[in-house]
Amino acid sequence: MSTKELHQLSLAELAASLRAREVSAVELAGHFLARIDQHAGLGAFLATDADATLAQARAADERLAQGDKTPLLGVPIAHKDIFVTRDFPTTAGSRMLRDYRSPFDATVVARLAQAGMVTLGKLNCDEFAMGSANENSAYGVVKNPWDLSRVPGGSSGGSSSAVAARLAPAATGTDTGGSIRQPAAFCGITGIKPTYGRASRYGMVAYASSLDQAGPMAASAEDCALLLSAMCGPDPDRDSTSLDVPAEDYSRSLGDSLVGLRIGVPREFFGEGLSQDVRAAIDAALAHYVKLGATLVDISLPRTELAIPVYYIIAPAEASSNLSRFDGVKFGHRAKDYGDLMDMYKKTRAEGFGDEVKRRIMIGAYVLSHGYYDAYYLQAQKIRRLIADDFRAAFTQCDVIAGPVAPTVAWKLGDKADDPVANYLADIFTLPASLAGLPGMSLPCGFGEGGMPVGLQLIGNYFGEARLLNAAHRFQQATDFHLRQPEGF
Ligand code: GLN
Repeated sequence: MSTKELHQLSLAELAASLRAREVSAVELAGHFLARIDQHAGLGAFLATDADATLAQARAADERLAQGDKTPLLGVPIAHKDIFVTRDFPTTAGSRMLRDYRSPFDATVVARLAQAGMVTLGKLNCDEFAMGSANENSAYGVVKNPWDLSRVPGGSSGGSSSAVAARLAPAATGTDTGGSIRQPAAFCGITGIKPTYGRASRYGMVAYASSLDQAGPMAASAEDCALLLSAMCGPDPDRDSTSLDVPAEDYSRSLGDSLVGLRIGVPREFFGEGLSQDVRAAIDAALAHYVKLGATLVDISLPRTELAIPVYYIIAPAEASSNLSRFDGVKFGHRAKDYGDLMDMYKKTRAEGFGDEVKRRIMIGAYVLSHGYYDAYYLQAQKIRRLIADDFRAAFTQCDVIAGPVAPTVAWKLGDKADDPVANYLADIFTLPASLAGLPGMSLPCGFGEGGMPVGLQLIGNYFGEARLLNAAHRFQQATDFHLRQPEGF
């Protein structure tokens, strides 16, 4: 057996140890549950249930004993609290869903369970996935293991913090406008958001349905490839936007040569707003790709800046509609004291939702209202199409696009907590791919200010996940940024 500790092993190594019966799924789950307890101060986990976890682990051990060779069998994972789960409560980071328990599992959760993965618990996140720093959760902030005074990114901040601190070898995340890529970048891990429609949205608490996508977060591209293969695939009966494209084995294309790969470098991602330390790390990563045989192509995504106003019209518009279901009648919180029905709705929603969620509901209702619909919502939809067209043009010149994930490294807790617009602006580089429905990923590529990790973003054409994962994997074979771990964990 390897001299590394269990929590330092890759998913493939964990799976091999399980199959060789060097460790059991029950022992492995116990190891991670102990680490979760030990580092509870990070605020990454919202719920654990040792009995539920160990029951899943025992079932995995039985399958292993029968010689079942399913690749991820017995390997632990934790889920962002946006995915509904039968065995654990689901809050979506909101008071509205305190103690809520779903009668079913989200499709992504169910697929990973069928693959034999063992659920360690549920991970903190911004309320209804709205945020860029995980400071909007009703259940407290999450800390960045690289520097406990900094944010872990958002909205999948519990996922990124837990994986970086190796409280879980893998986690699920969701990305509406960057919530897998940006927290992965801030915590020095790898994450991928697939093409819109690639993974089922069934059982993901809805934020902005035309943008929401699930994806894996783990130490490496190799790990993400294994996870993504298990998560994706059509779900026609449950998610009408899930695409009728069979799941792929992403691990198969890992290792393809990068010679001749054309990497588009969008000018607009390297403007004034990009901090020098991030820029230096990204430039070094691009130089590394040249050494691996890729060529860099100067490209333009001229509407990059418009992605912020467009996203912050469309996402709140959809959110205001999706969140109308939380009315105190169907499920979730209901105010205790109220007069008539209207009063019950108002008090329930006033008590149940946090400030950022209320802000988005108001923006959304405003841009959809009679008289403003044409001026805001319709215009935003038109520009969304033009942003997708810009990518289409760019992909005639290149195979993948590379740039920063975020303009800076993770900022200090509290620094932007009272400034929603500052949070929105930090999403500038992740929003364009989301609006176009393109796959995007983040991989660690260096360190910046305060020794904080920097993430390189790779954006692919539709269904280009295999190419992205391969490009990330080749970089990770030649570098060790993804293997570095924060001190004290
Ligand atoms: N930061 C963005 C927002 O607040 C993106 C969040 C996400 O991808 N879920 O909407």
